[in-house]
Amino acid sequence: MNITKADVLSMTVPTPFAVGPVNCFLIKGDVLTLVDTGPRTPEAQRELNEQLKNHGYAFEDIEQVVLTHHHPDHIGLVGGMMERGVCVLGHWKNDRWLQMSDSFLKENDTFMTSIYREAGVADQYFNHARDAREYLAFTDRAKCDIHLSEGDAVPGCSEWTVMETPGHAQSHISLWHKETGTMIAGDHLIKKISSNPLLEPPYVKGTERPKPLIQQRDSYRKTLDAHLQYVYTGHGEPILNPDDLIKERLRKQEERSDKVALLLRKQPLTAFEVCKELFPGVYKKQMGLTLSETIGHLDYLESENVIVKKKDKEQTYYRYKL
Ligand SMILES: [Zn+2]
Repeated sequence: MNITKADVLSMTVPTPFAVGPVNCFLIKGDVLTLVDTGPRTPEAQRELNEQLKNHGYAFEDIEQVVLTHHHPDHIGLVGGMMERGVCVLGHWKNDRWLQMSDSFLKENDTFMTSIYREAGVADQYFNHARDAREYLAFTDRAKCDIHLSEGDAVPGCSEWTVMETPGHAQSHISLWHKETGTMIAGDHLIKKISSNPLLEPPYVKGTERPKPLIQQRDSYRKTLDAHLQYVYTGHGEPILNPDDLIKERLRKQEERSDKVALLLRKQPLTAFEVCKELFPGVYKKQMGLTLSETIGHLDYLESENVIVKKKDKEQTYYRYKL
């Protein structure tokens, strides 16, 4: 049985984002299932319609949509689908991003502002509120009809099991077809780029924030245990030797963490100072992504007992542990 040819159809639609086009998939189960939608742009809608047609389907044929995670390039068109009665499935952690309530957007902004302050980010790079607004403009308000979590069989596609793969996004799930070692991995695994672990506010206000790089490493290891053969990804081509790629991702993260440890051996630094060293040039344009990645490494080194952090007024300094 070759599931990669038989039951999954790939479609690629354009996005306005730097990452380039996004992949959406059609699973021909008992229920015709779309995995991810593309962003809310006329170009994406047109391309999706066109490619569905090439596969012998119309947009109206889609019965349910599974969301791998809440980023607009993956969920943008879901609001329109929901209005047409398409059933929406995803992890419950998508909900706050799908609902986009004013109070949550404010909470997210307050959270990121406190992260930036604590990291010692220079004032001119406090663009997170504007960036979030621009980013979220490519999606519609929606809600999940059915929540999926670890180990669930996807309704109507029961040979596909849900694997929670947080790190890149707290809401991230991948769909695993155990019999053939196939996975639809969203942005959990991408062949040409390593997806950023991204900071998000805690789900319960006042509790400790999630540590996305540590989560991502756990998700990588869990994926290794599945002994996959073939991985469909959210961007770019499928992965034929996923275990090699995952091991490479884990190794590269360790190398970058070693680099951070070396910097901190010389002197205590704020996260922003480490970020500038790790991503010279890039950080100015991509403060949110590069700072998330940097704090991810600092979280990791702290969890490994290599460094400690100390608050000094508003800022936090990281110090190498002797
Ligand atoms: Zn993403």
